[in-house]
Amino acid sequence: MDLNQIKQQFISRLSEIKDEKSLIDLEIEFLGRKGKLTEILRSLFSLDLVEKKRLGLAANELKEWVNNELKTKNHEIRMQKWGRIAETEKLDINDPKFKIENLKLKIDSGHIHPISNMIFKIERIFEEMGYEVVDSNEIETDYYNFTAVGTPPDHPARDDHDTFYIKDLGDLYKKNLLLRTQTTAMQVRYMQKNKPPIKIIIPGKVYRRDDDATHSPMFHQFECLVVGENITLGELKRAISDAMKKLLGENTNIRFRNSYFPFVEPGLEVDVTCSICGGKGCNVCKNTGWVELLGAGMVHPDVLRAGGIDSEKYSGFAFGAGIERLIMMKHSIPSLKLLYENDIRFLNQF
Ligand SMILES: [Zn+2]
Repeated sequence: MDLNQIKQQFISRLSEIKDEKSLIDLEIEFLGRKGKLTEILRSLFSLDLVEKKRLGLAANELKEWVNNELKTKNHEIRMQKWGRIAETEKLDINDPKFKIENLKLKIDSGHIHPISNMIFKIERIFEEMGYEVVDSNEIETDYYNFTAVGTPPDHPARDDHDTFYIKDLGDLYKKNLLLRTQTTAMQVRYMQKNKPPIKIIIPGKVYRRDDDATHSPMFHQFECLVVGENITLGELKRAISDAMKKLLGENTNIRFRNSYFPFVEPGLEVDVTCSICGGKGCNVCKNTGWVELLGAGMVHPDVLRAGGIDSEKYSGFAFGAGIERLIMMKHSIPSLKLLYENDIRFLNQF
């Protein structure tokens, strides 16, 4: 078959085409890997130089022409199709017979991400208990994130390997800025601007140089701070117990253990029954049946003083928890990473 025959055949075939599918078939028939025109172009190799040049030029011109014809036809077909749709599926919302229910639309509505959802839920529960939700900054100074809340100068948490420092921003930022590693950073900032009684909750993002199966470099915490006259350890335990039962269910078992955090004295760690295994022991709870959920304690007098509060007259308690961990316990999710992968099959389950 010579080039002219191919061209004539293409013209006659193209005139019969009415839909996108047969147009694609036609393209394959002529320009595909084993297409008629492709075969000709491939056979050029065996020809002598003069013949190769003559036929090659003509074949390439034809190929370009065929391509343009295909594009034009494609445009025509699409315009006809949209024209038909506009004609048959037009809506007149002023027509008295028009009913929205008759529209054949399937609308998949999204929903709030489980992390945001948990934050809203925590805020609601604590607001009901009389707490005020406080906004806070994610970029902090070394002073508020570490020094003011009792972290010693040589503490490993202050290391470059653990904390994201923001450096080299010029003279304006010589105060050693960092991405806060804990919502505790807001405690002293708030106390400096507000007098007791204080009853606040600080939710938000925190950052640490940690990225493995069980850690994410960015995660969420919330922090509660209560300061007033005669605030006791008993009230702290009561507040935690009430909040966790509202959050995780009435049957949640809670236990308190002695612990140490630089900004509280005494310090407590709070465990709840592992919801993944129901207390029998699994990977998540390291076979203990308990999961550590909160750090807590009575506010250290030094922290009160840093906040400009008379530590002889006032006392307070504070506690905080990782929000991802709460979600894992509430919904029995074995890995924190699932919350960040944006897999719609996972997110649809909430
Ligand atoms: Zn477990």
